[in-house]
Amino acid sequence: MYDLIIVGAGPAGLTCAIYAGRKKLNCLLVTGPNIGGETNTTVDIQNYPGYEGSGAELMQKFSASARKWGCEFLEQFVAKITKPKEFVVELDDGKKLDAKAVILCYGRQRRKLGVPGEDRFFGRGLSTCATCDAPLFPNKDVAVIGGGNSAVEGALELARIAKKVYLVHRRDQFRADEVTVETARKNPRIELVLSSVPVEI
Ligand SMILES: Cc1cc2nc3c(=O)[nH]c(=O)nc-3n(C[C@H](O)[C@H](O)[C@H](O)COP(=O)(O)OP(=O)(O)OC[C@H]3O[C@@H](n4cnc5c(N)ncnc54)[C@H](O)[C@@H]3O)c2cc1C
Repeated sequence: MYDLIIVGAGPAGLTCAIYAGRKKLNCLLVTGPNIGGETNTTVDIQNYPGYEGSGAELMQKFSASARKWGCEFLEQFVAKITKPKEFVVELDDGKKLDAKAVILCYGRQRRKLGVPGEDRFFGRGLSTCATCDAPLFPNKDVAVIGGGNSAVEGALELARIAKKVYLVHRRDQFRADEVTVETARKNPRIELVLSSVPVEI
């Protein structure tokens, strides 16, 4: 019986493992397919105080710290979690592990367009987070794809930094809040490209 099973070994899971190790908990980290998580794809970390370098290098440091504090690593996939009394964590090979507590750190999946070129350029100029990545595009021409609040607010955020922002939307009307859309329409750096669907990047 583990005191704690952590599911996922991105920055959240690895940090969790450091804390659990320091508390001397009998802890297991089930890493899934990707130790380091999404941050492994970051070419240049710019927002972690005191650190300059790639995301993969930073995640190696996180991982080394987590191992140092004694949390056990298991490179498998969690398939199911039940709680008949204590938690039962079932792995993809059918093995079952008992734990008093489980912390889920399995990240999220970003919705993609599904067009050619998307995987190739992801993290290399193609981003799914304007708040995270707008500062990477000073004085550049950028395109934001979508018509909801994330897209229109992202376009406004980028318009403060980029030279020109094309806001590409498949319909002729936006799902975003009208007041936000109005602000975007009035922004001289934003050009609306409506009723248009990207087919390749
Ligand atoms: C291209 C790119 C650049 C980025 N740049 C930055 C940046 O510069 N600065 C910044 O602060 N943030 C950046 N981010 C965001 C940052 O990477 C994420 O916010 C962060 O990785 C989320 O951490 P997480 O631990 O919650 O999840 P993730 O990093 O997504 O990790 C999920 C973990 O769960 C595991 N897992 C999934 N399913 C299972 C399962 N069933 N069983 C077991 N394990 C499982 C995976 O193997 C992985 O280890 C960037 C993201 C991307 C994509």
